[in-house]
Amino acid sequence: MKRIGVFVCGCGTNIASTVDVDRVAEVASVMPSVVFSTSYKYMCSDPGQEQIKKAAEEHNLNRVIVASCSPRMHENTFRKAMSGAGLNPYMFEMVNIREQVSWVHSNKDEATQKAIDLIRMAVAKVERNKPLQVTTIPVTKKALVIGGGIAGMQAAIDIAETGHQVILVERSTTIGGKMAQLDKTFPTMDCSA
Ligand code: SF4
Repeated sequence: MKRIGVFVCGCGTNIASTVDVDRVAEVASVMPSVVFSTSYKYMCSDPGQEQIKKAAEEHNLNRVIVASCSPRMHENTFRKAMSGAGLNPYMFEMVNIREQVSWVHSNKDEATQKAIDLIRMAVAKVERNKPLQVTTIPVTKKALVIGGGIAGMQAAIDIAETGHQVILVERSTTIGGKMAQLDKTFPTMDCSA
């Protein structure tokens, strides 16, 4: 059975001044499979993360949504909190209601409605998430570049400069591609060959 917890962050007043976070949490509480929903000032803080762990235990959550800032900032923070709560970290979705809502809108009603819509979408997504496992596989640190035109040659040089072996494959007898067929290149009028 799917049991989703929704946590709506106010980011101090960063989000809360433009989005009615309490209203968002209230509407989220009656979305399908949502069994717990709340708002909090700073979800990334230790007490904020602790709320996820506590709610996971008390409400037997198996999926979590945090509506806060960009995943670039705190997705890892919350995935770690998921693991700390004994949940699979990939049964988690982060909704960006700061950069994509409060920072780009000024009408509070419309911003609140947009935050609700984004959370509704995340609920539909997290319901379909599968628990993933992290695995490590050996990688051969070599590159194959197909095509010895100007782009292929430059790619091969760039990779080689990072210290990796590169194999450049070209089907014709010469490299240079279209570039080698030109007489001169604008604006320097250099010989293209
Ligand atoms: S989780 Fe993001 S939006 Fe919430 S307080 Fe932390 S930085 Fe701000």
